[in-house]
Amino acid sequence: MSIHLQQVYRQALVWDAHAGVFPNPQVDLNLLDEWRVAGVSYLSLNVGFDVMDWQETLSTLAAYRRWVLDNGDRFVLVNDSRDIEGARRDDKFALSFDIEGMNALNGDINMVGVYHALGVRQMLFAYNLNNTAAGGCHDDDSGLTDFGRQVVREMNRVGMIVDCSHAGHQTTLDIMHESDKPVVFTHSNPRAVWDHQRNISDQQIRACAATGGVIGLNGMGIFLGDNDVSIATMLRHLRYVAKLVGSEHIGIGFDYSPEVDVDIGVILRSRPDYWPTGQQYDTHGIKHAGPAQLPGLIAALADAGFDDTAIRGFLGENFQRVARSAWQGSPA
Ligand SMILES: [Zn+2]
Repeated sequence: MSIHLQQVYRQALVWDAHAGVFPNPQVDLNLLDEWRVAGVSYLSLNVGFDVMDWQETLSTLAAYRRWVLDNGDRFVLVNDSRDIEGARRDDKFALSFDIEGMNALNGDINMVGVYHALGVRQMLFAYNLNNTAAGGCHDDDSGLTDFGRQVVREMNRVGMIVDCSHAGHQTTLDIMHESDKPVVFTHSNPRAVWDHQRNISDQQIRACAATGGVIGLNGMGIFLGDNDVSIATMLRHLRYVAKLVGSEHIGIGFDYSPEVDVDIGVILRSRPDYWPTGQQYDTHGIKHAGPAQLPGLIAALADAGFDDTAIRGFLGENFQRVARSAWQGSPA
């Protein structure tokens, strides 16, 4: 990487829109240092997904929140986008929480505001399978339900980023139609480059961009290709989306999990309903690109003709633009 690019990277806001750590209250969050060391400014950390029951999500959120507040010398729990700038000035790592799937609401619309008050700034609707709010990408996709519509409006109102990753095709189009704020796919790759049900069509990418949203690059090898996390392959995904809708709509959502005592393969194989066979989830030794690959990736982007503005947008300013709009709510 050139001296100039090193400088761009060092000075840039780096926004990772989703981590893939399997959430539970016992996780030692010192693992977040891997993002800090790699120069990431802000991370959205997952506290629950539809495979868990809502009480487990709440207790994980409570434990993570306690830990972040107890480690205020290094971490900042973000309330709004200005807090991220403040954290950078103070050389601290900024984070907030996200939830994958509406089972965490237990059918109660008022839980959206409760989660917001506890630090959740992003939710997606269905985790691969249909639920009471939405259709999932590995299911028959029943579309957004009346309850799901209410949730979109409530998320817009309180100030949460509306995330379409993991939802079914029709559901995502319904969500983007319903939302009056930008909508994102935090961690989804283009299906035209790698045809996986977790990836998204050109129609979804165009609809997302039309809301002012961003598509975050997922670093998991099975969503990039045949368990392929090479820089060349990641670049192919990014160039495809940028060519289709413009570089102001690309970002990072690596879905990354540091090496911990969890064998992801064992978890994925234990629930073939959520992670169906035939979708590469039974791949042994699933590879995962994470923040450590960013220097190589931005060097490749520069070589491919992306200028400094486009690279800064990819690194974080694009997601920051969405957050500035989406997080301006009326929390209750
Ligand atoms: Zn996910």
